Amino acid sequence: MLKLLSGSGFVSRSLYFLDAIAHKFTVPDEAEMIIEEITVTAFQQHTRIVGCEQTHAAICVDPGDEAERIVDRLAQRGLQLQAIALTHAHMDHVGGVAALKQLCPEAEIILHRADEPLYLGLPEQPAWLGIPRTQWRALGFDYAAPPKVDRYWQDGETYTVGALSFQVLHCPGHTPGHVVLFEPRERKAFVGDCLFAGSIGRTDLPGGSYEQLLDSLMHKLMPLGDDVVVYSGHGPATTIGQERRTNPFLTGAYTPGRYL
Ligand SMILES: [Zn+2]
Ligand SMILES: [Zn+2]
Repeated sequence: MLKLLSGSGFVSRSLYFLDAIAHKFTVPDEAEMIIEEITVTAFQQHTRIVGCEQTHAAICVDPGDEAERIVDRLAQRGLQLQAIALTHAHMDHVGGVAALKQLCPEAEIILHRADEPLYLGLPEQPAWLGIPRTQWRALGFDYAAPPKVDRYWQDGETYTVGALSFQVLHCPGHTPGHVVLFEPRERKAFVGDCLFAGSIGRTDLPGGSYEQLLDSLMHKLMPLGDDVVVYSGHGPATTIGQERRTNPFLTGAYTPGRYL
């Protein structure tokens, strides 16, 4: 029977599937990543708690608001917050930093140095979006000066959270100091506002550059591999492969020929 079917797609696919299962159960001490998502602000920004299943160490990626909800979620999962890990310093990503740092003073605030001017300018950021000053309070955009940065991301460094190891990739373009956090064993990337399902980050705000963003996407993100799951600051999760195949900014459909 096996002989008759050998070479058929059914058998080769089935064997591949069994092999994949065997691999999963024989890989020693595979890290397990906990991801808790809380969507905050009028911009529907996804604040994420990313934790190590083995050690219960965790980081909070981009606390845009609702620090108490973040702390409740940490407690529910029994996680210890070691860092407030910022992909970039736009207000929908850093608006909750001050309150979270107050509740978890031991957590270090980490940002790329090139985004520090944006970070320190947080109280004025709503003006960049053209939101009238009289509406800031009602919208929850009356930000105080943020607490000082404790540590700066370095491009290419590895940042350890329990058994998780994140590669830090400097991906400027949406902002000058935007970083992506990539966990190679888990095959997951936290990309902030660099890349979205079907779109890319805006580049018309202070410090933005379309050319730089395309360079970051083509030379830093796309090489991570088609299987990598992409967690964006807004909208649904996607994969590198899905975006490589269909995202008009990456296929060349938006700027024909240039990046093909
Ligand atoms: Zn942004
Ligand atoms: Zn955003």
